[in-house]
Amino acid sequence: MIRTLAIALALSVSITAASAHAAPGDAAEARTLLMESVGIASVKGRGQTPALARFYRDWLVKAGFNAADIQIDELAGTANFHMAWRAAVTAKAKPIALTGHLDVVEANPADWERPPFTAVAENGYIFGRGVQDNKFDVAMMIATLAKLKASGWTPKRDIHLFLSGDEETEGTASAVQAKQAAAIGFEYMLNSDGGGGGLDAQSKPFFYKLQAAEKSYADFQMTITDPGGHSSTPTASNAIARIGLVSARIAGHRWPAQFNEITRASLAQAARQRSDILGQAMARFAANPADAEAIAVLRANPGTIGQIATTCVPTMISGGHAPNALPQRVTLTVNCRIFPGTSIAAVQSELARIAEDPGVRFAAGIDWPVTPASPLRPDVTAAVQAAVAARAAGLPGLLDLKATPGMDAGATDSVFWRAQGIPSYGVSSLFMRQEDSFAHGLNERVPEAAIAPALRHWDSILRRLAG
Ligand SMILES: [Zn+2]
Repeated sequence: MIRTLAIALALSVSITAASAHAAPGDAAEARTLLMESVGIASVKGRGQTPALARFYRDWLVKAGFNAADIQIDELAGTANFHMAWRAAVTAKAKPIALTGHLDVVEANPADWERPPFTAVAENGYIFGRGVQDNKFDVAMMIATLAKLKASGWTPKRDIHLFLSGDEETEGTASAVQAKQAAAIGFEYMLNSDGGGGGLDAQSKPFFYKLQAAEKSYADFQMTITDPGGHSSTPTASNAIARIGLVSARIAGHRWPAQFNEITRASLAQAARQRSDILGQAMARFAANPADAEAIAVLRANPGTIGQIATTCVPTMISGGHAPNALPQRVTLTVNCRIFPGTSIAAVQSELARIAEDPGVRFAAGIDWPVTPASPLRPDVTAAVQAAVAARAAGLPGLLDLKATPGMDAGATDSVFWRAQGIPSYGVSSLFMRQEDSFAHGLNERVPEAAIAPALRHWDSILRRLAG
């Protein structure tokens, strides 16, 4: 069943591609690039990320790009990659950026069924750490650029490819790269590490998310200290009891509903695909974000609460020092996913208010930049929509496959770019079944059948936006 559909999909789209323009990148070559890239363990602390950057550089130089246009900066124990492809003539339009990341999450070979840092092709899948996140799309972008270059096509505006070195960990190199990009000046950025499509159980494409906003991420450490004392002489100021109350108040707090054009469009589109109470609430909220009944339904559902508000959740607790002593110190960790446009300071002062305990002291944990949603640009939306619609061409009943704007809970490199004022859009070429997605987990994989449509995806988007 899956194989039949995959062939039908490949056939239908190759007809479209052949009639529209020259054939996109060669799938066998892209597959080799992907498999070899998985063999370079670009994990934090292993020192191999610069080698992966050089591997990509050599591939692009072999395809005809100028080595002088490719820069590899070693920094923060890793490396950033940057290539500029200049327009043939002085371009009227500002440059655009393509982005991805070089690094992958660590993997323990003892836990894996196959060696994580050797790509293994089996049963129609390619297995390996990073093969989905984010080496698949990076290989597809590079293969597409190489094929376009070799075919003699030249962009009408500059196209830059940026690959960051520590997206999965500190983001220090990512932040540096976003600053460098801001100095060059980009009209917008297309992130291969966000957005993407879903396949149903029969491997038919059924949705596509164009990521245009991300919530920011913050951890707060809330500590209560107390003189303590002997457990046989209890006091009213028991720190564990107090933090328990604080924790319950935070967990029970209802953050005010918020919206932007991305979440409204996303909920409106999702509502069209369901007829239950949740779907009705999505439609009502999209039409009127002040609809209290709709808010109550969306708030009660774990899948939608984060789409309409900031969320803050107690996630860790530590405290006390002996079974027979009054606790002297208790710390509660609260993790927040903050709605675009709301400051971290505003969330902290709201937490302090909710806590209703003036003895709580705050310490800063991890926090990411607070970024606005990127405005939905008609040119980007149309280009992505055309690439997505081509997937469904020829498949009965799938002609209305839509690129739906979406907001993620965070975080990708786009937060650093949006913080620099560069509108950023997650436009991954990868369509996956939910049950095949093991990014960051064991047995990470991608379907081999995803390669050819992914090459057409990038080819179509680049020809429309830079041709
Ligand atoms: Zn990633």
